[in-house]
Amino acid sequence: MIRAGPPFLAGLLTVLLLGTASARDRGVDGHFSHRRSSHFVLYQDVAIQRYSGPLGSRQFERDVLEVLEESYDRLAGVLGVRPHRPVDVVVYDPAVFDGQFANLFGFRAAGFYHGVIRIRGGTRISTELVRTLHHEYVHAALDGAAPGVTLPAWLNEGLAEYFEGLAIGKRRLSRGELVVLGEAQRQGALPPLAAMSGTSFAPLAQEQASLAYLKSYALIEYLVRGYGEAGLRRFVAQVLRTGNVERAAERTFRQSTAELESSLHGELQ
Ligand SMILES: [Zn+2]
Repeated sequence: MIRAGPPFLAGLLTVLLLGTASARDRGVDGHFSHRRSSHFVLYQDVAIQRYSGPLGSRQFERDVLEVLEESYDRLAGVLGVRPHRPVDVVVYDPAVFDGQFANLFGFRAAGFYHGVIRIRGGTRISTELVRTLHHEYVHAALDGAAPGVTLPAWLNEGLAEYFEGLAIGKRRLSRGELVVLGEAQRQGALPPLAAMSGTSFAPLAQEQASLAYLKSYALIEYLVRGYGEAGLRRFVAQVLRTGNVERAAERTFRQSTAELESSLHGELQ
């Protein structure tokens, strides 16, 4: 809505600053401030200052950008993947975020990526938020490095889960995760790779989606154990270059993705 006087100018400025982000990204009263780091542009709903105070919200912004720059460095270092352009990040007032998004993405209420990284604002960076930022950055970076390539969800989510784990020093599946996967495997409840190869897990029921995330993580971890991060790096580079996951698997691992899946299933028995 266009208003007269200074609020209109502020609104216009918001639209200019947001660039490609759409008008519905405006905050509770239509105002965003922005801040840049080397590889990110962060827009923050100024309403956040109402509960955290201006100093608190600025510190929060700085912390968010610091974590995102760490995730940039790690992904570039391990996989050599870098988005071609700075990544837009929008930090929302929590009430606005919950009202707009929480019921859509109940399984990841701290933030998500869909063209832009959207984050639920806070006063401090929790471990959950660190994990979310690293996870969502992987989606943003893969998208930004090869915008024309649509990745199967198991690869996209598996990489995001793997790097989310690295962010908190976790390189392997936990004992609990192995138990869950093993049990699901025995009951025939593990979603097959074919059901995990669409663009997202959204069509899966809640429990199937949780298992799909876990199995995707297990597949990436399996590849790293077998072929090293260097093998994973070659595989991902070829997928991003050609968009052909099957051929990249055959060339890098000498196995089809179906063979990789059955090897993983064999381990879980
Ligand atoms: Zn994800």
